[in-house]
Amino acid sequence: MNVLDLLIRRNRRFAGTRIDRDLRMRPGLSAIVIGCFDPRVDPAIVLGLEPGEIGVLRNVGGRVTPHTIEELVMLREVARAAESDLGPGWDIVVLHHTDCGIRKIRDRDDLLAPYFAVPAEGLPGKAVGDPRAAVAEDVAALRAEPRLAGIRISGLVYDVITGLVDTVVAP
Ligand SMILES: [Zn+2]
Repeated sequence: MNVLDLLIRRNRRFAGTRIDRDLRMRPGLSAIVIGCFDPRVDPAIVLGLEPGEIGVLRNVGGRVTPHTIEELVMLREVARAAESDLGPGWDIVVLHHTDCGIRKIRDRDDLLAPYFAVPAEGLPGKAVGDPRAAVAEDVAALRAEPRLAGIRISGLVYDVITGLVDTVVAP
């Protein structure tokens, strides 16, 4: 069976047994997690979440790039258009992890400089390869963005061996 057939089969099972038509567009916990692509670190699974509880943005490394910030600002406008809010009372949690694949390209300034939209000289400040320093950097970047003012922001690092998260930056 190819992957698409497998996914469609599982979707049929989901639609027959687990769909919850009472879920809302707004995440039930008023929270957004920014996390890594890595399938070991699916926020909904490692944080024990139920369907609809959080929104998730994932990219390589779970990093806060200029693109990430523009997505969050756009989400805030989507919420306004839906006559909701995305501001005070909301949380953004940056979730990095040990053994992240982005470490394997930490010398690739040609990839990382455009990813973070900084000159190569600015890349050491992005702490690629040190998840604790990187999550602190990314929380600081979000807190410095005036268009996200009022949102609580925190940073966690997940250990892929123990399965535990450590709070690096409290809200
Ligand atoms: Zn990763």
